[in-house]
Amino acid sequence: AVRPLIAGNWKMNGLKASMTEFEAMLRGAPDVLDKADLLVCPPVTLLASFASKASSFGQEGRHVVSVGAQDCHKNVSGAHTGDIAPEMLADAGATAVIVGHSERRADHGETDAVVREKALAAWRAGLTAIVCIGETQGERDAGKTLDVCGTQLQGSLPDDATSGNLIVAYEPVWAIGTGLTPTVQDVEQVHKFICDRLTERFKNEGPSIRILYGGSVKPSNARELMAVPNVNGALVGGASLKAADFLAIAAGC
Ligand code: 13P
Repeated sequence: AVRPLIAGNWKMNGLKASMTEFEAMLRGAPDVLDKADLLVCPPVTLLASFASKASSFGQEGRHVVSVGAQDCHKNVSGAHTGDIAPEMLADAGATAVIVGHSERRADHGETDAVVREKALAAWRAGLTAIVCIGETQGERDAGKTLDVCGTQLQGSLPDDATSGNLIVAYEPVWAIGTGLTPTVQDVEQVHKFICDRLTERFKNEGPSIRILYGGSVKPSNARELMAVPNVNGALVGGASLKAADFLAIAAGC
């Protein structure tokens, strides 16, 4: 069985004062670590301080909560004002980076090809790439959910993915921050589709690559969603900002 991961995407939220909330997560994490691994992706301004705090809570040299980033540039360094290289994220203590979130695709015009290059850059820096895919409401209404997800997978994932370097997050765009979620049957269908595509392409690595569900996951629906076949955890937005909610979601795995 694939060990679940509950990943928190803080998006553009969090100030230095948020360390209190993160510390509450670190204190509560040991109670849920039998259920799932935990990862928090704060804004990059908080990455280094969260990572160093997490290492002081480590058990046997392993962090109880890993720390990741929300985006990266494809290059190692250079004249790219405002951008951050994955090597810099790793240097700050990140072990993973989200790439191709629908908000980046929408706000910054990131295409599948761009996302693929970012995933490769993440690997170059030794980071796990969390590649996001998912259909819009219009695409769902047109019956194109699997087509869209298939195209995004094909274009956004580099070759040579393994269960160690890749996590896929299925996030229906219409479910993000709306309180709406697909039915468990719909989630099951899409996750099975993704698992089949990963297995076709990455052979025996495929079935062990984690597939997270994201979009309005909260403590009240986590148990039901996490029980769906081929759902190996969640990518949580709003509910990951509160330690109690984040830990309750993990407890539901
Ligand atoms: P919400 O959990 O706030 O719907 O956000 C989901 C998301 O986009 C995580 O990346």
